[in-house]
Amino acid sequence: MLSRSDVEPASRHRASGAAPTVENRSLVERDRGLLWHPYAPLDGPAPYAVTGAAGTRLALQAADGKNFEVVDAMSSWWSAVHGYRNPALDAALLEQVGSFSHVMFGGLTHAPAVELAERLVELAPEGLEHVFLADSGSVSVEVALKLAVQYQRAAGFPGRSRFLALAGGYHGDTFAAMSVCDPVDGMHAEFPGLVARQLFLPRPPAARLVGGELVSDPREVQAWIDVLEETVRSHRDELAAVVLEPVLQGAGGMHSYAPECVQAARRVASEHGLLLILDEIATGLGRTGKLFAAEWAAVAPDIMCVGKALTGGYLTLAAMLCSREVASVITASPLRALLHGPTFMANPLACAVAVASLKLLDEVPWRGQVASLETGLAAALAPATGLAQVRDVRVLGGVGVIQLHSAVNVPALTRAAVEHGVWVRPFRDLVYTMPPYVSTAADVAVIGAGLCAAVEQVHG
Ligand code: PMP
Repeated sequence: MLSRSDVEPASRHRASGAAPTVENRSLVERDRGLLWHPYAPLDGPAPYAVTGAAGTRLALQAADGKNFEVVDAMSSWWSAVHGYRNPALDAALLEQVGSFSHVMFGGLTHAPAVELAERLVELAPEGLEHVFLADSGSVSVEVALKLAVQYQRAAGFPGRSRFLALAGGYHGDTFAAMSVCDPVDGMHAEFPGLVARQLFLPRPPAARLVGGELVSDPREVQAWIDVLEETVRSHRDELAAVVLEPVLQGAGGMHSYAPECVQAARRVASEHGLLLILDEIATGLGRTGKLFAAEWAAVAPDIMCVGKALTGGYLTLAAMLCSREVASVITASPLRALLHGPTFMANPLACAVAVASLKLLDEVPWRGQVASLETGLAAALAPATGLAQVRDVRVLGGVGVIQLHSAVNVPALTRAAVEHGVWVRPFRDLVYTMPPYVSTAADVAVIGAGLCAAVEQVHG
């Protein structure tokens, strides 16, 4: 429960008009009770204050005033792939600031947006030719869902307005995006009557990386495909699209699954006139070892969302791409338009830094970086397999996971990892890492050693 003292300082100053007496209070103290943090109570565990960031390092100050320099194992939730204060990204941003920082996108356009869209279409799976630039991953998912419903209506199927999604999936926190998240983890029950009721398939069978291939039990895969086929057959008249994170479910459990399931979703969707929406917000731009995770299945979607790493972690931006076929049906409809248009659509600063970030991915190039992360993480996390409290250790591309038998004590594990020189943010039973692509072999070794030591110390 929120205590009175948590909210009083800030509100009292505002009411009296007096200047806040902040000098003697640390940032963390000033934050607590004032700012909401993700999925956290106002009086939850104290955050760490970031006092600097460069390359793969963060400078942190704990609530007790202690300072730490840590290796970032999170890439700021999968986004800062080129590290902090990257000179090329800093320069791109400053150059755009010197030109203009924002203009509305209604009736206007600009070079950063056009260049970004052109590049995304070049990089994206075959057939994706049109781009909507949204202000966050969740918003791009909203736009993708709207587009699918508009498409079906325009194609003469107004009854097709629901979605088939996967148990264990995660697609964002806004209401429509939430509706296609796992119903339990997505806490649908907390918002009765407000979250659209979608259809869900079971979580697809797990796959492990063996000799560069994602391998799973073929009987389990076939059983899953049978359920997919049966569900689509019996609900085709109400379904607009199938929505999934290809091959790796991220925030819903860091679960790698069989590419055959993505292939089957593509085939079954096409057979029944449904669209396939791939959410590549977490997996896209190299993280799984392919530029887009759809490549594991050699599948091209009708609609795809990209975000997170798009701006190299600098600014909030996501993109929704769609096929020419989908766009042409909308264009031929009486409405002709896609019904969305936020104030900060195609923000020039975000687009300029995204263009620079995609250029860096090419130049470095990302493939070698992620391959090194995969080898390095496999070696560095291997000692965790010997720990009694560990259920599974797995790696895919630049993603390393230590899964425990029970829920992680997040504040204790975070503190232990920080003391071992690593920034990590576990959830549920998962201690996982997605380091920046620029991480050195030494950084990866520090991450592995730090995570293993923290798990042993806290859960041993
Ligand atoms: N889809 C996926 C697969 C994600 O991982 C996320 C963010 N974790 C989102 C959508 C939502 O993106 P955002 O947080 O930028 O709204």
